[in-house]
Amino acid sequence: MVVVGSGLAGWSAVREFRKLDSITPVLMITADAGDFYAKPTLSNALVQGKAAAQLVTTHAEKMVATLGVTLLQHTHVTGIDVQTQEVHTQSKGSFGYRQLVLATGAKAIRLSFTGNAATEVLSVNSLDDYATFRAKLKPQARVLIIGAGLIGCEFANDLAASGYVVEVVDPGASPLASLLPLKASTQLRESLEALGVRWHFGTSASSIDRVNDDYVVAFASGQTAVVDVVLSAVGLRADMTLAQAAGLATERGIVVNAQLQTSTPYVYALGDNTQYASASAGVSRTMPYVMPIMAAARALAQTLTGTPTDVQFALMPVAIKTPALPLLVAPALPGIQGAWVNVQDGIWQYIDVHGQVRGFILSGAQTSRRAEQAKLVTA
Ligand SMILES: Cc1cc2nc3c(=O)[nH]c(=O)nc-3n(C[C@H](O)[C@H](O)[C@H](O)COP(=O)(O)OP(=O)(O)OC[C@H]3O[C@@H](n4cnc5c(N)ncnc54)[C@H](O)[C@@H]3O)c2cc1C
Repeated sequence: MVVVGSGLAGWSAVREFRKLDSITPVLMITADAGDFYAKPTLSNALVQGKAAAQLVTTHAEKMVATLGVTLLQHTHVTGIDVQTQEVHTQSKGSFGYRQLVLATGAKAIRLSFTGNAATEVLSVNSLDDYATFRAKLKPQARVLIIGAGLIGCEFANDLAASGYVVEVVDPGASPLASLLPLKASTQLRESLEALGVRWHFGTSASSIDRVNDDYVVAFASGQTAVVDVVLSAVGLRADMTLAQAAGLATERGIVVNAQLQTSTPYVYALGDNTQYASASAGVSRTMPYVMPIMAAARALAQTLTGTPTDVQFALMPVAIKTPALPLLVAPALPGIQGAWVNVQDGIWQYIDVHGQVRGFILSGAQTSRRAEQAKLVTA
């Protein structure tokens, strides 16, 4: 078996596979160092004073020894030949596979800006990115975050709580506007404001120029921000480069069936690069979060070891790491018609057209009521 990628998806797939099969040789090929870490910690590590190396929970050598795999670190897979069942690498030759697992994750979306420093915008989607970002943060640095979505808000909280001067620009009207009902979004806005975060809503960054030691960022509204670091947090896009070049079906991610098989035999995918089939008819979606990866890895291991198994996704609430206002969001499946109803202070339920609860949001102290609210949700 060959696994491409050593993020949570790659390592989880191998770990689950090894629980069922300790014999089949496994080759993992990864562009990075292969160390195991929890990527969600990237957006709440500053306040804990943690450097990139301290976020590694298990080093690659230990993973290799524990799981009995061969690891090719710092090795870029450049192509897949699905006819001959081989993967090609940039520097270490080609390798045959009987089963191939693509766990190549997602890439940060890069917006284009004008200005002489347009390419100096940072994004944080790996340990190396985090190390670069942290190195640029001198004490009391001024940081502009582009994007007030989930990751933008988490970084805003982490930076502001760590003593940095934070501004956020977003074309929407409030933070996490596409995910939260207005009242919850307003509460988050106010909670982060109380930490010192300054918002620029209803506009977007257009140009970024280096002027002496500063970045001068011009907004479409005509305002400017003068900062030391510009961090882009406008979202991630599934990395489908290899899959597309090999002719696999792709849409918003690599398309897989319920058993995580791609459109080509013996090739499977899971993680942020994947568009999962869903039990709900007609709904197929990317799910770039930790819990879907764990469920997918368990099912995939069964399938790869000879027991074809459909992945089952339970309700998977996402905790938003904004300690200024903790939030737990369990959105309804895409396509379900309904509306958010504020049933109690700090509790919203997504009620469908038949009056059934299909999702929920908890804020502040109410986040402890997760189990109780989850029971009310109709799958
Ligand atoms: C800042 C941040 C905070 C987050 N917080 C949360 C949270 O609170 N809760 C939550 O549920 N989720 C959170 N997420 C999402 C979660 O971390 C991801 O869903 C998960 O880590 C994705 O794992 P992955 O293995 O699919 O991808 P990745 O971790 O991106 O791994 C991809 C791997 O593929 C390798 N690779 C790619 N292309 C090639 C190639 N051609 N050749 C060789 N190797 C290749 C890469 O080197 C890497 O090892 C967060 C994400 C970010 C960025």
